[in-house]
Amino acid sequence: MKVGIIGTGYVGLPTGVGLAELGNDVVCIDREQSKIDRLKTGKITLFEEGLEDLFNKNMQAGRITFTTSMKEGVENADVVIIAVGTPPHPVTKEADMKYIHAAATELAEYLQGYTVVATKSTVPVGTGDVIEGLISKKNPNADFDVVSLPEFLREGFAVHDFFHPDRIVVGANTERAEKVIRDLYKPFEGKTNMLFVKRRSSETIKYASNAFLAIKIHYINEIANFCEKSGADVYEVAKGMGLDSRIGPKFLNPGPGYGGSCFPKDTHAMAYMGRQNGINLSLIQAAIDGNAQRKKEMAERILETVKGIDNPKIAVLGMAFKDGTDDCRESPAMEIIGELINQGADITAYDPKAQENAKLLVGDKIHYGKDMYDVLKDADVLAILTEWKDFKALDLNRAKTLMKNKKIVDLRNLLDAAQAREAGFEYQGIGR
Ligand code: NAD
Repeated sequence: MKVGIIGTGYVGLPTGVGLAELGNDVVCIDREQSKIDRLKTGKITLFEEGLEDLFNKNMQAGRITFTTSMKEGVENADVVIIAVGTPPHPVTKEADMKYIHAAATELAEYLQGYTVVATKSTVPVGTGDVIEGLISKKNPNADFDVVSLPEFLREGFAVHDFFHPDRIVVGANTERAEKVIRDLYKPFEGKTNMLFVKRRSSETIKYASNAFLAIKIHYINEIANFCEKSGADVYEVAKGMGLDSRIGPKFLNPGPGYGGSCFPKDTHAMAYMGRQNGINLSLIQAAIDGNAQRKKEMAERILETVKGIDNPKIAVLGMAFKDGTDDCRESPAMEIIGELINQGADITAYDPKAQENAKLLVGDKIHYGKDMYDVLKDADVLAILTEWKDFKALDLNRAKTLMKNKKIVDLRNLLDAAQAREAGFEYQGIGR
């Protein structure tokens, strides 16, 4: 099939590469000239495990091309996928729809023949109707249907998740559109759950899922706090809870709070939609408030360890919002770093993949190390903020010789607490 994808970010690019690998003829469109220039010359623009190889393979096979021209990507396409950002509105925190509205308006004039316009971006309930209206207004003769096709990939596992989705949810209001999407996803038939629902249900499924996961993370973080006071071990508790099939073992990992480009913005957007509809979504609001507070508390924990030290130096490992990605958007690590900067801390940080993106956010307000040992020189405390597996292999004896004071605050419980203490560190993990 011929597929046009609008937006080549963390969703659009892996989706485009994945659909090309399945044999489709894919054109990726982005309004950012510099991104398209890089992609055209075979340079990948974001880090995702396994993406670069697949990208090169499909570029060479001529199954995927890149352009800034909406016309090139949309005319003749059987399916046009919208994968532009829906960031939080700076004031109300509702989903800011300006990129969606622009994309829908821009694509309208180039539609030729029957086309399915599918929204992969996470969009407020009712957006399908809005897109339909925008396209019809600009191009009254267009023959098209708008489908909701929410994306559930996890950053860091985008390629894996494209080929092994837990489920494919499709919100189609016509049989004709449903058939086109069934054809597009034929390779997954019988291999995963395909759920065809009303468009508004599909739009709601995405928000309801992300809000639920955010609540689950916030819940285990609160239980971790309780374990610290009560003498229990949050991992033993999580294991015991997770064996109950009604609860399940996933998303019961305590940490510094949820972050990333989805959970924070989607919980805010869902809470906003609740208010607009006169519905009290109190659990979601509690997760939003508690999660914001948690990051402040985590920064306080780190500062507490260097209380009384003149001009303390803080070494930070990890800036990405989680391992496996270079994405720093709404990263708990970056928010904690921000709190520490506000308290005048002298920070040297390192991240194996996200350093460049972090620099765009905090610039020269902190120093950057060239590897995980470089940041430790003369440090008074080491704060581990992202769960990169490399950090697990930290040589504690080497770390000890580099640091001035031997303190570790491990907000990802990456290190072995007993080993760290045996090596002479004052070690604090989470929830035990
Ligand atoms: P992103 O910011 O990484 O990428 C969006 C891209 O769209 C940018 O490259 C931008 O230049 C481009 N763009 C914006 N307007 C355009 C236009 N009119 N024409 C052409 N290109 C345009 O965003 P993302 O992280 O890929 O997220 C996209 C959507 O997918 C969001 O709604 C997000 O909530 C949703 N989503 C994201 C994830 C994730 O893990 N990142 C997972 C599921 C769903």
